[in-house]
Amino acid sequence: VHAHSSPLLDGYNRRMGTLFVLQDVTQLRRLEHMRRDFVANVSHEIKTPLTAIKGFVETIREAGGVEPEEVQRFMAIIDRNVNRLIFLVDDLLKLSSIEQEGDSGDLLLEEKSVKDCLSAAIQICSAKAEEKNIEILMECPDDCVVPMDSHLMEHAAVNLLDNALKYSPDHSRIHIRVFQEDNGITITFTDSGMGIAEEHLGRLFERFYRVDKARSRKLGGTGLGLAIVKHIMNAHGGRVAVHSRLGEGSVFSLFLPL
Ligand code: ADP
Repeated sequence: VHAHSSPLLDGYNRRMGTLFVLQDVTQLRRLEHMRRDFVANVSHEIKTPLTAIKGFVETIREAGGVEPEEVQRFMAIIDRNVNRLIFLVDDLLKLSSIEQEGDSGDLLLEEKSVKDCLSAAIQICSAKAEEKNIEILMECPDDCVVPMDSHLMEHAAVNLLDNALKYSPDHSRIHIRVFQEDNGITITFTDSGMGIAEEHLGRLFERFYRVDKARSRKLGGTGLGLAIVKHIMNAHGGRVAVHSRLGEGSVFSLFLPL
């Protein structure tokens, strides 16, 4: 709490008392703390690939006798790290543009077919699904139409599908189901992958929160995917939720209001 005091004077400049102002700064402190955490996280996420790139460039330049195959291997590592930076910057830009659109109410809400939107998302993820021999099944009524920003909703669906693919074993299945209710629709994404232990569920939608940092990075994750999904749903006045059991799989659900 911040406290200020000042004398309270009457019209003749006589002191009538003292004015105390107590300001609750808990929220301000919390925001400041979050901002600092965010900057520290972004810096760390940028620095790690940059350090790797610099290291391998120097090795190639300095060690005259590096075999051509070694150079190729180093170049592949450099390329992977450059991609990581590109994905990170893309996700950061996405996050900030959704925040702005959501805050200013600039969302492009149009009546759109949920099935078309989900089909587009499945199409985008089809290469990865084929690579792992994972089948993506969708159950959605043809006539399901809701007001949404279809590009953003497609992005949210891609992020959830991409995670389900990343954290599921080869030859498994992912189910997408759509339920129509009186006040909106719920879309569920069910995988039978590794699942998430209960202690992580509360923080999963925070920026850069990962259950296993090393594994997420290895799989090409930025740690921002679920934070972006949450922002997209909030901007629609909807929400995202997760149910999961370690070792059994996860269900992520999106609720969109009518
Ligand atoms: P990332 O880029 O690391 O995947 P996300 O924000 O998309 O970042 O997800 C945050 C973390 O949540 C992941 O690092 C992973 O630990 C966990 N996670 C997300 N989706 C799933 C899933 N379907 N199955 C298991 N774990 C998941």
